[in-house]
Amino acid sequence: MAYDNNNVFARILRDELPSIRVYEDEYTVAFMDIMPQAPGHVLVIPKEAAETLLDLSDDGARAVISTTRHLAIAAKQAFAPQGILVAQMNGAAAGQTVPHIHFHVIPRNAGQEVLAHAAEKGDMAELVANAEKLRKVLAEMAKDEA
Ligand code: 5GP
Repeated sequence: MAYDNNNVFARILRDELPSIRVYEDEYTVAFMDIMPQAPGHVLVIPKEAAETLLDLSDDGARAVISTTRHLAIAAKQAFAPQGILVAQMNGAAAGQTVPHIHFHVIPRNAGQEVLAHAAEKGDMAELVANAEKLRKVLAEMAKDEA
């Protein structure tokens, strides 16, 4: 199916819709999921226009998994969860609701409920505070890499 240029993440990439961004490079962007399934839930997307992982170029796939790994490391430091769930759906039948490929990075703790997928808007102040925690860790990571 042809890529829908007006899907919500394409519009976020063009800054036509707001997002709480925590990371951006030449090929990828990461921002807070507006309906988090657990505190610190972040989405990583390639800038390349691709609906699913199957449509993405090899270079795009390398870039997005590298950024996803980077964000998972940052989330581990920022929120100290016991685990990190990384999830990615391809096609509505697989649970994909936004037709621009993305990876979910979700901090997890045993016994802590995972909220329903794309169901309820998170508290904006909490989303902003969690984004700030991630940005701080990412800034430290960038310093260490320099
Ligand atoms: P999918 O169901 O396609 O795997 O995941 C789409 C994700 O995008 C869901 O977790 C949903 O909460 C999130 N989402 C949907 N619309 C928006 C939006 O406008 N802004 C942000 N930041 N996240 C969104």
